[in-house]
Amino acid sequence: MRIVIKVGTSTLAHSTGRLNIKRTTELCAVLSDLKNAGHEVVLVSSGAIGMGVGKLGLTQKPVDIPTKQAAAAVGQCELMYTYDRLFTEYNHTVAQILLTGADFSAVDRHENFNNTIYRLLELGALPIINENDTIATDEIKVGDNDTLSALVAVSVAAELLVILSDVDGLYAADPHKDESARLLTEVRGVSKEIEDLAGGTGSALGTGGMKTKIHAAQICTKGGCDMVIANGKSPALLYDIVAGKQGNYTRFFA
Ligand code: GLU
Repeated sequence: MRIVIKVGTSTLAHSTGRLNIKRTTELCAVLSDLKNAGHEVVLVSSGAIGMGVGKLGLTQKPVDIPTKQAAAAVGQCELMYTYDRLFTEYNHTVAQILLTGADFSAVDRHENFNNTIYRLLELGALPIINENDTIATDEIKVGDNDTLSALVAVSVAAELLVILSDVDGLYAADPHKDESARLLTEVRGVSKEIEDLAGGTGSALGTGGMKTKIHAAQICTKGGCDMVIANGKSPALLYDIVAGKQGNYTRFFA
């Protein structure tokens, strides 16, 4: 199976912006294992800005564009260094691809991306994708990695996109306001009612929230790919998700 996994800043980093070593180590072990089992894995990873904030010792996520882009430049190195080290332990080779929205809208650039990623998969490498935050401006950026991961999943004809987040999935009501809110484990068709369930809040260091995830689900399911939202605090959930089992997560059917 060709699988795209998207991991958010809230999964990879503590609220300080520093790497969550336990979580990230576990994630890389599970992804390596899925590759060893014969699956093709593409990782879309956030965390560049968050980790740059930590590494530069900034006290909070910057609001101005140059500092955000500077933090992303520092954090992207840290991110890839970390992945390279962890995946090398399991004998897997990582490859970095940085994209912007323009890479999907311009036919020749999109084709270049596809040629490269298909070749990388043939070569057995593990592509790790992020938005090219250091140069992306409002006009050309995708803007959030939930949408980016959906565009990537459809572009590479993946069968499954898993978005690892800091929530278990999509709830029938806002779980912050209503503790008894029910987790929806299966969604068939992203209706207006489903869209209305997305509140829109993101974490202190990340970008998305449920709104961008529902948008991603629309792109994915229309493009013929299943999408799952699951809690990144337990990367081992990926085994059940890939096996098609129902669990404590939300699956949107293609
Ligand atoms: N590209 C951003 C980063 O690496 C994250 C965007 C997102 O989380 O949606 O910090």
